[in-house]
Amino acid sequence: MSGYDFDLFVIGAGSGGVRASRMCAGHGARVAVAEERYLGGTCVNVGCIPKKLFVYAAHFSEDFEDAAGYGWSVGEPAFDWQALLANKDREIERLNGIYARLLDGAGVKRIEGRARLVDEHRVDVGGQVYSAENVLLAAGGWPHFPDIPGIEHAISSNEAFHLDRLPERAIIVGGGYIAVEFAGIFHGLGVRTTQLYRGSLFLRGFDDDVRETLADEMRKRGIDLRFEARVERIERGPDGLVAILADGEALEADRILYATGRRPLTADLGLEEVGVELDASGAVVVDEYSRSSVPHIWAIGDVTDRIQLTPVAIHEGMALAETLFGGRPTRPDHIDVASAVFSQPPIGSVGLTEAQARERYGEVEIYRSRFRPLKHTLTGRDEQTLMKLIVERGGGRVVGAHMVGPDAGEIIQGIAIAVKMGATKEQFDRTIGIHPTAAEEFVTMREPVS
Ligand code: NDP
Repeated sequence: MSGYDFDLFVIGAGSGGVRASRMCAGHGARVAVAEERYLGGTCVNVGCIPKKLFVYAAHFSEDFEDAAGYGWSVGEPAFDWQALLANKDREIERLNGIYARLLDGAGVKRIEGRARLVDEHRVDVGGQVYSAENVLLAAGGWPHFPDIPGIEHAISSNEAFHLDRLPERAIIVGGGYIAVEFAGIFHGLGVRTTQLYRGSLFLRGFDDDVRETLADEMRKRGIDLRFEARVERIERGPDGLVAILADGEALEADRILYATGRRPLTADLGLEEVGVELDASGAVVVDEYSRSSVPHIWAIGDVTDRIQLTPVAIHEGMALAETLFGGRPTRPDHIDVASAVFSQPPIGSVGLTEAQARERYGEVEIYRSRFRPLKHTLTGRDEQTLMKLIVERGGGRVVGAHMVGPDAGEIIQGIAIAVKMGATKEQFDRTIGIHPTAAEEFVTMREPVS
């Protein structure tokens, strides 16, 4: 046994830090984890979980409208924001408790407070110094605001989860995951919602058909979605906040939410002093085993800015446990990571976009299907689902699968297994569909588009 207090000291009890702590303790390591804010990190407290609960809440407004086509009359629906907040908070408190019990049950020592490196093997938390053979940085990320006049009037997604009142009018700035998700949430809850994106088409990095389809669907629902819209400054006006755009237009709102990316939380952890290398965005530079530039200091999750997703942080944590205490050095695998955007309708995506596949393979075959979901034949709702497969010409391997439509995340999760296994289009074709589902379309697309 080493002469240190712990074999591993973890900074940050979010998705990655908690999983790494538990797995390392499972291998017999003596582990401590320090957390200054909340157990479970962004995902549990101000991210994935409350966001998905809000998405469910927002969807009811459509469901009530759609019910009429099936013979239901539901009267005039009313929404109570405070009730949603209270129920959401209760659930998060329950999850915080589960995280505490999981750590305690695994024998991990929990330490409350802000941790700071003293040197390579020592960490200070509130004046108490602990020594450890290895230190794991898993402090996560934080919303990043551009530096424009009046930005102090804007909120981030962190605050959106705790607003005392639901705004009547909201402006959302950004065109990534969080911006489109909150546009759908606010709009569904009855807020007049404007989304502003600085480029020509939002969701950069996603397949172009997906981006265009979601833009159409959001506009059909009544979201005021504007591209090439840059906010120059924000002012407080007599009737709320005013966003002044580069073209001079002034847009009023009660709340302005910025979702313009998240940056690694690496400031004031003592990293520079100890010699841990950071990149230009402040992310910890790691090798393929998650080792920082200092040999016994490791980093996983958003603090490394590889892929900012909870399941990726968890995967990195498990790989690290194998490397450090499992006797099996393991590199995390960042290839073909599926993800979903819980927009309305949602997006599911795995593998390459059409543009990426063309760049990598030259010629590719594209299979695409657009249809109105069966459910909406009776509701009359004008909603299109998009499904798309990208197939490498030579071997016929499916290298990308993308969807916009109900349950896209649920469906793409299954497809992702096939893509990860290297399944060919022929194997997709040999798979018999489940009828009637939307998902069966993924195994019945026969003719490539030209
Ligand atoms: P993203 O990186 O996804 O998107 C940031 C958006 O803000 C982009 O559209 C970007 O535009 C725009 N932007 C950046 N800087 C500025 C600026 N100065 N002025 C105006 N616009 C700007 O970040 P998010 O904040 O949406 O989310 C952070 C990460 O969290 C995501 O990347 C994702 O990995 C993760 N996440 C995952 C979710 C899920 O799995 N469902 C849900 C929520 C978050 P441009 O494209 O032009 O650079």
